[in-house]
Formats: sequence, structure tokens, C-alpha cells
Amino acid sequence: MVGPWTRRAAAKATCTSRARQVPFYGIFSTLPARAHTPPRTGIAKSRAVLLEHAPFDMALIVQKYGGTSVGNPERIKNVARRVAEHRNRGDQVVVVVSAMSGVTDNLIKLAKEITPLPSEREMDMLLATGEQQTIALTAIALQQLGIPATSLTGAQAGIVTDGVHTKAKIRNITPKKVHAQLDAGNVVIVAGFQGETAEGQITTLGRGGSDLTAIALAAAVKADLCQIYTDVDGVYTADPRIVPGAKKLPEIAYDEMLELAGAGAKVMQLRSVEFAKKFGVVFEVRSSLNDNPGTIVKEETQSMEGIVVRGVALDKNQAKVTLVAVPDKPGVAARVFKALADATIGVDMIVQNISHGSKSPTTDISFTADKPDLAKARKVMDALKAEIGFAELAVSETIGKLSIVGVGMKSHSGVAAKMFETLAKEGVNIDMISTSEIKISVVIDLAKGDAAMRAVHKAFLGT
Ligand code: ADP
Ligand code: ASP
Ligand code: MG
Repeated sequence: MVGPWTRRAAAKATCTSRARQVPFYGIFSTLPARAHTPPRTGIAKSRAVLLEHAPFDMALIVQKYGGTSVGNPERIKNVARRVAEHRNRGDQVVVVVSAMSGVTDNLIKLAKEITPLPSEREMDMLLATGEQQTIALTAIALQQLGIPATSLTGAQAGIVTDGVHTKAKIRNITPKKVHAQLDAGNVVIVAGFQGETAEGQITTLGRGGSDLTAIALAAAVKADLCQIYTDVDGVYTADPRIVPGAKKLPEIAYDEMLELAGAGAKVMQLRSVEFAKKFGVVFEVRSSLNDNPGTIVKEETQSMEGIVVRGVALDKNQAKVTLVAVPDKPGVAARVFKALADATIGVDMIVQNISHGSKSPTTDISFTADKPDLAKARKVMDALKAEIGFAELAVSETIGKLSIVGVGMKSHSGVAAKMFETLAKEGVNIDMISTSEIKISVVIDLAKGDAAMRAVHKAFLGT
């Protein structure tokens, strides 16, 4: 192939043998020493903008395609065509793919048909196969278009994690093979959602973890552009499947995206946004099915504060656990939540009621956690029952967590009152409340969740 791409590849090819490990904001990545190109400092935020005006500029792009975008052979061919367009313009492309839609859920279902609490190490072994199918299929689709492409597992791409199976954290990335393949002129397809420990155990990064793979790789290879392709045009003011009047946001601050993701807006995985904020990775969420501009996720700007509520989210994936009649004495809450933390169960909201009885007072402690962790949480609590001496364990899976989010809340009052009034008018009872500087969340009856979400969206966002 002739053209600018070849020149760049040739220049880089001459220096890959001097690959070295360099610290990258705490992440260690092996980068080729770029003797002929100026050093890049972090993710070139300005370049993301620059590219819009200079479409012929060569770029190193990380693109992530989610489950629906690779859901069948036609969709995979569509991804290959989109990637090929960039490649033919001279860009170097790293593609991160998820498992085909439904595959991960099916694998989990299969394991749970054998036992409700399968070994987490074996779950990782099982779930990692989903993405491994898609990388190969995507590489085949690109090769079919005449584009040289190689697939790499997370481990081959140099993604090293801790050993917390099913929820592993990325420790470091050494993308030596990614650079080598790019330098050889290949599109590199990396399996999302997976890595391996320093001891060589396969791990996965939590549900939705391909987003994290893409953002972490973008940071490690110092990509010019990071694009998250999904089945919606971008980040909306609410899930457009539940709120038809939801509007697409041209941009959103990391902190708002973090709160929305934490509140259940599954368009981006929470941990991937944490990572992006920490390492300053500016990224765009856009559709793999059209060319509409998406949503840019970046550091907060002053103009963002004018809007009080940026978005509304409903988390239907949480369960509430109540320890009834827990002895009200020092150390009990510490014991309960330490045991949950030791079992790597993430707790979201916590409410403790006032005590009853004067001689040996008791109280109720409720907390919420993700539904998939419920069986594990029950086991942990059952094991503590004798030691702590609570009366019973009550569990509800029919709750929804409704949240409103916006950096503008910092400088506006009366926001909570307006939300609670709106819910009262809808006849929705509030079970638990939690707030942060830029978020208000309430736990309500799941059956009323969608209607409550639409009412709150209308009250704050007008549609
Ligand atoms: P992928 O498989 O591409 O990772 P996901 O299913 O994980 O896609 O995320 C995309 C989905 O997120 C959308 O189909 C949409 O229903 C949902 N979603 C929830 N909240 C929002 C929001 N605020 N904006 C856009 N999409 C949202
Ligand atoms: N396949 C994984 C999941 O369904 C990871 C991802 O899609 O991002 O959660
Ligand atoms: Mg996702």
C-alpha cells in the first residue's frame, strides 16, 4: 500500500525493536520509542476536535463495538466496513469487541443451571470465550474485505489485572503485541472484558467491561481518538427505550457520566468512566448503525453548570437486603459491611432505622446491591447470623433506583423537593434516599419505575 500510512508505519517499524516500558500516569505501557515523531502527552484531547476539521490527518484510533453492534454476521460485516473506511484513510485502528448480544447472558444461564453459585474462576474461563468468538469473526470479516487484521485476546494485548475473578481491576497494560501488529500494518482486534493475572489466570472486568478495555487501551496506546460504538446515537437525558422524549446530549462531564452510570444508565460501564476521568481519556459514544455525531464525554466546563439536571436514570438491577432486629451496639455495622466487602460485594445505599427497645435495643439495617450478587450476599449474611444475632433476613428484588444527575445541582436549591413532589403526584412511595453533590437517588417500587422516570424527566427536562 502506498500513501501516508506506509510512511508512518515505516518510520515506526524502524523503532519498534527499541520498545520500552514507560510509566503512563501510573499505568505502565510498553510503547515504541518514537524517534521520528514528537512524543504524545497523554490522550491528545485537542486532536479529537482537530480531526473533525482535518479528516485526512492520520490517527491512531481505538473503537469499541458492543454486543448488538456485533450481534450477527451482517452486523459484524458492517463493523468491518466501518473499520475498513478508517484504515483506507490511513488511520491505524485498534478495535475492541464485546461478545455477540445475548452470548454472555446465555453462558451465565448455563452455569447457573448447574449451580446457583458457580466458582468465579471457572465463570471467567467460561465468559471469556464470548469475546474470543467475536474477535476472530471480526478479523475474518476484515480479511474478507482485503484488510490485514489480527485478533488478540485480552492477555495477548497485554492487559494484566488483579485476581478478583468476575470483577477484576486492570493493574497495567503492556501493549507490545498491539503496537507490533499495528506497525506490521494490521488492524488489531482485541477481546473486550478480559485480561489475565500476573500468574496467567484469565479474568473478566465486570459486566459491560469491554468499555473499560477500550478506554484503558486508548490510554495505554495514547490513541488520538476513542470511540464507543453502540446501538444508540449517544448518551441521552434518559434511556430512550423508556423515555421516548429523551434528548441526545452533545457533551457530558465525566462526573455526570459517572453518576449516571452508577445510577444504572448502562450505556457506559461505571468503571470505564472512572478510568477515563482518572487518565483524562476524552471519548465519544456513538451509533454503529448510522453516522450521526455522538456524545463527547470530557472534563466539566463552566457552561455545563447552567443545566440543573443533565439526565435521569433507573436501575432495575438492584436488590434490597434488610437485616431485621440487629443489636444496636458499636461494631455491628462494621462487621456486616466488612464481610460484604471481603466477599467483593459492592454495596450501594445503606439505611439504618432508629432503635427499638431500651434494655437491649435493636434496629433494622437495609442495603442495596446488584441482583447478581444477591445469592452471595445471602450466604455471607447467613454465615454472620449466629455471631451478630439478628432476627431475620428480608430480601426484595422488586425495587428500582431512580436518580437525577447534574453538575448544576451544586448551585441550585429545591431540586430534591421538586423530585419528591413529582413522585408524590404520581403516587410513588419513596423507600430509601441517597444524595451526592450532583445526584439524588431514591429507591421505589420497581413496578412504578418506568412511569416515575417519565414523570421526573418531564418535570426537569420538559419532555
Ligand atoms: P453495548 O452492547 O453497545 O455495550 P449497552 O446495551 O451496554 O450497549 O448500552 C446501550 C444501551 O444503554 C442502550 O440501548 C440504551 O437502552 C441504554 N441506556 C440506558 N441509559 C441510557 C442513556 N442515558 N443514554 C443512552 N442509552 C442509554
Ligand atoms: N460481554 C460482556 C457483557 O455482556 C462485556 C461487554 O459486553 O462489555 O457484559
Ligand atoms: Mg455495554
